[in-house]
Amino acid sequence: MKSYDTLLKTLSALNLNGIMDKLDEIIHDAEMEKSSYLTVLNHLFESEINYRNSKRLRRNLTAAHFPVEKKLSEYDYTKVKGIGKSEVVNLSDCSFIDRKENILLFGPPGIGKTHLAIGFGLEAIQKGYKVCFERVTGLIKLLKTTDIHRSSDFRIKKIIKSDLLIIDEIGYTPIDRKEANLFFSLISELYEKSSIIITSNKSFETWAEMMGDEIMTTALLDRLMHHARIFNLNGDSYRLLKKQEKKEVHKP
Ligand code: ADP
Ligand code: MG
Repeated sequence: MKSYDTLLKTLSALNLNGIMDKLDEIIHDAEMEKSSYLTVLNHLFESEINYRNSKRLRRNLTAAHFPVEKKLSEYDYTKVKGIGKSEVVNLSDCSFIDRKENILLFGPPGIGKTHLAIGFGLEAIQKGYKVCFERVTGLIKLLKTTDIHRSSDFRIKKIIKSDLLIIDEIGYTPIDRKEANLFFSLISELYEKSSIIITSNKSFETWAEMMGDEIMTTALLDRLMHHARIFNLNGDSYRLLKKQEKKEVHKP
């Protein structure tokens, strides 16, 4: 028992928490199966790697700031035009992130733009990429307060270092010229360095009006669309469809 306690202390001193977690199970299995030293050593270190990987995934998931978790596998393609399952499955291998390509999702409210964006974000995290999610209003607030709040500065630095930035809900609220300039600077900084997913209820022809500066909006769209997959979704709002289905079920 003394050598067991010494081992626990050593593992703790070396921060080998994954091995510590599985130690009893691995020793028990090794005794039952009369495993070789090499097999036992492999099991021990594999459990440390698994532990560290899952800890990193959890950390990246928290750091992403998703408002909810939505999986691509839960998306119903029969209700929406403009995007197909095979396209989404192809994109979900996340090679678009390696190529620094963007995904632009346009369409009316309730069609599942945010759902798809989060779905791609979750896939990326599973594959080990760093992802940040922000609504455009929140993002602009962060950009405007980097000099005042350390937390804003910290978040913007994290966003710049991420592999994929998701910017949700462009178009719901107009942004002024100064805000649009800050937004443009960020997109320029990320251009060809990170991937960006954008969701918007406004087609890009109307973005200039929303941002109040035509030249800057053209330059912004130029960067966003240069290497991008663009999807124009249409159909009925999924929220309303579900509401109607519920009503049908409850009809006497
Ligand atoms: P949008 O961002 O386009 O306004 P959301 O992604 O917020 O729409 O979708 C609204 C709600 O409906 C969410 O709960 C979402 O999960 C669900 N939803 C929308 N479209 C679909 C779909 N095609 N399949 C499954 N769920 C959907
Ligand atoms: Mg949305």
